[in-house]
Amino acid sequence: MNNAVFRPKEATQVTETVIEAKGLDLTYQTNDGPVHALKGVDLTINKGDFVSFIGPSGCGKTTFLRTIADLEQPTGGKITVNGVSPEEARKARAYGYVFQAAGLFPWRTIGGNIRMPLEIMGYSRADQDERVKRVLELVHLDGFEKKFPWQLSGGMQQRASIARALSFDADILLMDEPFGALDEIVRDHLNEQLLELWARTNKTIGFVTHSIPEAVYLSTKIVVMSPRPGRITDVIDSPLPKERPLNIRDTPEFLEIAHRVREGLREGHAYDD
Ligand code: ADP
Ligand code: MG
Repeated sequence: MNNAVFRPKEATQVTETVIEAKGLDLTYQTNDGPVHALKGVDLTINKGDFVSFIGPSGCGKTTFLRTIADLEQPTGGKITVNGVSPEEARKARAYGYVFQAAGLFPWRTIGGNIRMPLEIMGYSRADQDERVKRVLELVHLDGFEKKFPWQLSGGMQQRASIARALSFDADILLMDEPFGALDEIVRDHLNEQLLELWARTNKTIGFVTHSIPEAVYLSTKIVVMSPRPGRITDVIDSPLPKERPLNIRDTPEFLEIAHRVREGLREGHAYDD
């Protein structure tokens, strides 16, 4: 018998494509005429990538995330998720989605909020309990299960919302400006925690932000976008190591990537708008 077949899964380093967009178009029909939210978008995201989308408002960041999650239908081109259509991937519970506002239901406890998708998906009560406990630990909110959202700070609410998105073991986490409304100190802290969580769970993350330092600090891949029509103007594969203390932001390597992102944003921006 060949022993090679018993090699642990981790030992085989194969790049696995998770999301692939080819010539993706999405045009919204509005009363003021067509809006080209996405035009000719080509992008490959691999398993375990942390991908940030950055660009001025209206460049299609949210539309792209929503298209991945099967919340919008492309009007042209092709997109696959785990090799199948976004719809099939959604039905296989491939995604967790975190919105800008935490979106927690005020009449439910933190535990009750996290439990919600699990109830809808029909998990047993015992399984729900176990999962709520585990994801609360993951975001360092152990002990907060019985609190209500208003009893938590903004940063803690956003962590609870991340816990909810993680509760059913989706491999892909889509986050649309999750920390946009938080002050910088809290955001720094959440960024560190998110990197730690990502390293521990090996999720594939799509993350929308307006902040250049946030994008560079978090990402393995930075996608710079530009509006009218919404399109990708640069894709930067980060040379930074996976392990990133906050003070990496003072290194020349970091500043060099930040500079390239800034240049990309400037080139794609029309100053007459
Ligand atoms: P971003 O997230 O980068 O700010 P969006 O993806 O939200 O950009 O929007 C891209 C463009 O599509 C914008 O011009 C926006 O006004 C338009 N848009 C977004 N959603 C809709 C919609 N449901 N109907 C019509 N136009 C939309
Ligand atoms: Mg948006």
